[in-house]
Amino acid sequence: MSTQHTAGSAAALLQRHRAVMPDWLALYYGEPMEITHGEGRHVWDGEGNRYLDFFGGILTTMTAHALPEVTKAVSEQAGRILHTSSLYLDRPMVELAERIAALSGIPDARVFFTTSGTEANDTALLLATTYRRSNQILALRNSYHGRSFSAIGITGNRSWSPTSLSPLQTLYVHGGVRTRGPYAALGDAEFIEACTADLEDMLGQTGGDVAALIAEPVQGVGGFTSPPDGLLAAFREVLREHGILWISDEVQTGWGRTGEHFWGWQAHDRAGPPDMLTFAKGIGNGMSIGGVVAGAEVMNCLPANSISTFGGSPVTMAAGNANLNYLLEHDLQGNARRVGGLLLERLRAASAGLGVVREVRGRGLMAGVEMVEPHTDTPSPRAASLVLEAAREGGLLVGKGGGHATSSVLRIAPPLSLTVAEAEEGAEILEHALRTVDTELG
Ligand code: PLP
Repeated sequence: MSTQHTAGSAAALLQRHRAVMPDWLALYYGEPMEITHGEGRHVWDGEGNRYLDFFGGILTTMTAHALPEVTKAVSEQAGRILHTSSLYLDRPMVELAERIAALSGIPDARVFFTTSGTEANDTALLLATTYRRSNQILALRNSYHGRSFSAIGITGNRSWSPTSLSPLQTLYVHGGVRTRGPYAALGDAEFIEACTADLEDMLGQTGGDVAALIAEPVQGVGGFTSPPDGLLAAFREVLREHGILWISDEVQTGWGRTGEHFWGWQAHDRAGPPDMLTFAKGIGNGMSIGGVVAGAEVMNCLPANSISTFGGSPVTMAAGNANLNYLLEHDLQGNARRVGGLLLERLRAASAGLGVVREVRGRGLMAGVEMVEPHTDTPSPRAASLVLEAAREGGLLVGKGGGHATSSVLRIAPPLSLTVAEAEEGAEILEHALRTVDTELG
């Protein structure tokens, strides 16, 4: 069977896809596209159409598509050896671990590499439950932490979590969604107070026999919602009283994406670093790298010898090291802050007065546009899908997500090297798409 890309082949590929892939595998667009190559902040489909990529793959292209520095590092490593295993010493793995340990802020840090965010969170849950000898986990409502049996079991939204047969007992607390729900009308301080009281109440019911709280500093799949700065610091004080560990899921928020901070937890810095942080997505710029950082005492609580066969594979580590070099040398965190700030302003202005937009929110290069049925408060997955299609027509790719059993939030998370001109161009296309859908839905 030919694997060549020919004009119009996406429809045929879709048929083959449907014949062999699971029905629950998410696909964007009424007519799904095949992306064949990329460069910088752009990608091309099999028919030669060029798109500005405002979703960075899926927050996986952290610096840029086809970044020459990463491609060179990968091909040089691939030319030497693709994979051995962590049963042998692995120089690129040790080098990346040293750098991530130093950047993490966690004292006496140890790093374990996995191949995905799910596996990273799974490992963090394994460590926390072993260390604390408890299978109870606290998670935020509206959270998403991956799709293994454990990670999906703690995911606070049934539409992303198709099983309730989790091996863990999960207790959900408020704090994830700021602008909807029972505490929506509260100011920052009152919100923090109410959520902390909820946490204390929950712990009162369990007697404090809980292994860990896992939280995304900005909820990603949940629709780019952030709690007020300081919420996790207030939680941390309560958790400390009970010896409960804090796991910061930085799969979407790590590496400077939020602009102000290198890690999302730093918006709550009064708390000090978390006991564990998990990472994935952007660090490999598309190569499969995930991992957990924890202090030595927690990391070393597992009695068994263990490896991840592909975690820390030298070719992925070479990508991670080259990608991290580029990120730091070009201050892409600063770029995320500056260009992200401009983009948010521009999107707010573009959405003003539109009945289908409820809110534009975000941090750095993580912007969410919440779509609603016109002039109501009802989340609108159909409006979000229509905007996605209209933006594609205009040459722009964005993501969607959002809790409350819908995908009603447009998610914008371009590579962190986005230029001001590209931000302007993307905002213009999106403004046009939003206006078109606003008019269409009335
Ligand atoms: N944690 C967060 C916050 C995520 O957004 C995701 C994926 O979207 C995961 C974990 C799971 O990562 P992966 O899809 O690499 O397994």
